[in-house]
Amino acid sequence: MQFRMQFNIGKQLTENSQAGTGGKLEAGTRDRGGNLSSKQELAVLVWSRWSALVPRKINVLVCRIARDRIPTMLNLRDKGIDLDSCLCPVCDLVGESVVHLFAGCTLLSPIWSMIVSWWGVALPSEVTIRSLMEWGDNSGLEMESKRHLEAVIMVVFWSLWRFRNALVFGVVKPRKYELFDDIQTMS
Ligand SMILES: [Zn+2]
Repeated sequence: MQFRMQFNIGKQLTENSQAGTGGKLEAGTRDRGGNLSSKQELAVLVWSRWSALVPRKINVLVCRIARDRIPTMLNLRDKGIDLDSCLCPVCDLVGESVVHLFAGCTLLSPIWSMIVSWWGVALPSEVTIRSLMEWGDNSGLEMESKRHLEAVIMVVFWSLWRFRNALVFGVVKPRKYELFDDIQTMS
């Protein structure tokens, strides 16, 4: 399946992170134009979707992903940490940003088409962090199924981050073909 990737969100996240929100979720903070910035909109979106179906640690991670607050290689570099490489540790081709890791990496993004097959729902026309987080709303599923799909999507975010960390820090390198099995088991 051909994925159409959109990197605007990542660009916006970077730009907005420079404006800074003090590290707090400030739902009412608005830019000069009176609109919630994209980053804040996304944070509010996720905050309102705290799921009782998954553990707190997964909810917390998804909030941090939405706010671009996880230690990807590019985020570490921006904090002044000296790294041998800022490339994605999975594909080794592109700088590792939140957007790349969860929506753009060609070696990881097939996981989303597996969710399509598993759930019988259409992939968002553009795969972005936001469209993935809104996937349940746009799935056409009934409320209960929608809530479960959203929980599965959160588990995928968790599993991708865990896979990446195992690749970077683990003694035994993880295998991608086990990723989907892990997600189904956790879900
Ligand atoms: Zn990659």
